[in-house]
Amino acid sequence: MRADPAAQLRLLDLQALDTVLGQLAHRRREVPQVAELAALEVRAAELRDHEVAVRTAVSDLEREMTKAEADVAQVRDRITRDQGILDAGAVHSARQLEDLQREIDSLRRRVSDLEDAELEVMEKLEDAQARAAAATADVAAVAESRTAAERARDAAFADIDAEVARVEGERARVVPEIPADLLALYDRIRQTSGGLAAAALHRGRCQGCQLTLTPADLSRIRAEAVDEVVRCEECRRILVRTDESGL
Ligand SMILES: [Zn+2]
Repeated sequence: MRADPAAQLRLLDLQALDTVLGQLAHRRREVPQVAELAALEVRAAELRDHEVAVRTAVSDLEREMTKAEADVAQVRDRITRDQGILDAGAVHSARQLEDLQREIDSLRRRVSDLEDAELEVMEKLEDAQARAAAATADVAAVAESRTAAERARDAAFADIDAEVARVEGERARVVPEIPADLLALYDRIRQTSGGLAAAALHRGRCQGCQLTLTPADLSRIRAEAVDEVVRCEECRRILVRTDESGL
């Protein structure tokens, strides 16, 4: 393949721009907030699950509380009823009076036990309510962190994208100066050589694979026409001759 030496030199400019674009794409993938957001999303899901569990515990305890209150009220009603019978003076048998009094005493002990149980449920409920409030606050805090990280990520993306647009603009000016066949060869090599397809021959060394050419290779290149497109024998990249090639 032949190409004007000026076009070959322009290929080095194109390579430099494509290398920068590759670095920018890498930087975009490695924006720290991307990993941070992935971690925050996992954390948010965990916290939401925890919040649901705690809220469920609260409603279970609320139901338990309602039942405990009803239990106390029911026994209290019975005491009131029994006390009413006593106070009305309708029972005259000493035996019946004694039975009634014993029942009232027993019901009072029962109320006391039920109230203890009610208090215990109330303490558990208050504890669960506090945990639920904390869980809701944690969910909100993580949501806030996510918003902040998204904002920082988008700002980083915008910076990178602006730089990409600038480099692509420059690239669009360079491309027309390179013949189509040389450009096609460049694109093909780029795909198999880690993005680096064109390298300068600098002081007898290939800037692509960093190997120093043998004297035989150098004299072969020296003998080539200036518009011949030379390839590195080692890495097969396009080797561009410059004033500093050491030929
Ligand atoms: Zn090479």
